[in-house]
Amino acid sequence: MKVAMTKTPVREQDPRVRRRNFDEVSLGYSLQEAMQEANRCLQCKKPMCVTGCPVNVQIPRFIAALKEGEVEKALQIIRETNNLPAVCGRVCPQEEQCEKRCILARKGESVAIGRLERFAADYFMDAEASQENPAETNGKKVAVVGGGPAGLTAAADLAKLGYEVTVFEAFHELGGVLVYGIPEFRLPKALVKKEIEKLKALGVKFETDVIIGKTILIDELFENGYQAVFIGSGAGLPKFMGIPGENLNGVYSANEYLTRINLMKAYDFPHSHTPVKKGKRIAVVGGGNVAMDAARCALRLGADEVHIVYRRSEAEMPARREEVHHAREEGILFDILTNPVEIIGEDGWVKGLKCVRMELGEPDQSGRRRPVERKGSEFVMDMDIVIMALGTSPNPLIKSTTPGLETTGWGGIVVREETGETSKDGVYAGGDAVTGAATVILAMGAGKKAARAIHEKLSK
Ligand code: FAD
Ligand code: SF4
Repeated sequence: MKVAMTKTPVREQDPRVRRRNFDEVSLGYSLQEAMQEANRCLQCKKPMCVTGCPVNVQIPRFIAALKEGEVEKALQIIRETNNLPAVCGRVCPQEEQCEKRCILARKGESVAIGRLERFAADYFMDAEASQENPAETNGKKVAVVGGGPAGLTAAADLAKLGYEVTVFEAFHELGGVLVYGIPEFRLPKALVKKEIEKLKALGVKFETDVIIGKTILIDELFENGYQAVFIGSGAGLPKFMGIPGENLNGVYSANEYLTRINLMKAYDFPHSHTPVKKGKRIAVVGGGNVAMDAARCALRLGADEVHIVYRRSEAEMPARREEVHHAREEGILFDILTNPVEIIGEDGWVKGLKCVRMELGEPDQSGRRRPVERKGSEFVMDMDIVIMALGTSPNPLIKSTTPGLETTGWGGIVVREETGETSKDGVYAGGDAVTGAATVILAMGAGKKAARAIHEKLSK
């Protein structure tokens, strides 16, 4: 059988339209398109794609079911190992994980595993919640700190094993970065809510607006009868450059900017309670997914010009290629090899961004070529908002209130890689709180690993 060497195309909103709305960019596959794409899978005897997935989704098995049009069976297979398939199908960097190892990728394009996963999850999105039932309880209580992908995955796996799990979340909503970071046009919030409803059906309890380390301490959780604690508190503390002008009005961290827009619905102000400044000329400093998301949100809020300002070249940008491509299609401007040195203000508000041009020198510790300033290349761009998207690190609150919990110099919780065990007995951790800002699926993989280790310890 001759196999097509390119993926079945997916329909997308027209860039000229979508640049001004928050509706989802990708429209996903129809059943017919999904079956056509599933037909490209070679059903390898030793499927390398599975080894590329941090939660080991049984990819050839679920695709074989899709090939026959058996969508429900496909979803059941995915759900054996992945509790958030609609999320992963949309935001996993598949090109670096499962799809990278697909044998078809050697000569053409891999099977569109992410799109197929999304299709199967969406197909039963409304029907499926009632199908999850709580397992019989074993009477043992486990606390989970943080309702992001790491915490939700650990909670679901433990609940399935019969543990009485309570998730404590600092915000009023669950989902972590899935609700406060990644924008609606990439990951609709109604869909994240529905995925979380399915976890509730497993019997997991949720307590929102509870800050562990402030409202309750980790040690107090043990005093209250919890026999193990999983920390999945993420990395929500933004970094700044330390350049003059960062305290001006109109300077945001991407974290604050995106939280205002996504979680607090600032785009709907005054119908919502939280405002955000809607500028006309906006600079976003950084080259990752967070920078692309902030820039594309700024455009959708009505900006005339949005610039990505990045000190290395495009090849070094950590953002997914697809996100860079979508941003460019929508009209985002890229100032690469450009580094800000000062934010210029007037009457306390941002007026411009002073930058220098860079060129690439020798590779640095990260293996990427180090950007070096070109002498005398200083210039100023008129801007009324500057958004810093330079990465984040873990909030120090839990570390400072939990005696015996070892962390690294930058604040990451130290764990044993195979189990997620921390230096404190009975306390496990995973996700961005351990690795620093990473990916949804790595956080989920860490949650799974820790759930297994907690079960092993508590069932002795
Ligand atoms: P989080 O998602 O950060 O969740 C941690 C949760 O813990 C939060 O809800 C927080 O409120 C809560 N919390 C923190 N401290 C406490 C406390 N003391 N008490 C109680 N609760 C607490 N990854 C991808 O794979 N693909 C993408 O396309 C992608 N895009 C991204 C875009 C943006 C804008 C951002 C910011 C990140 C993106 N990521 C992406 C990264 C990904 O979202 C994270 O790696 C992932 O969410 C980490 O999961 P987590 O559960 O460890 O932490
Ligand atoms: Fe690929 Fe992510 Fe699905 Fe795993 S969860 S198969 S990495 S899309």
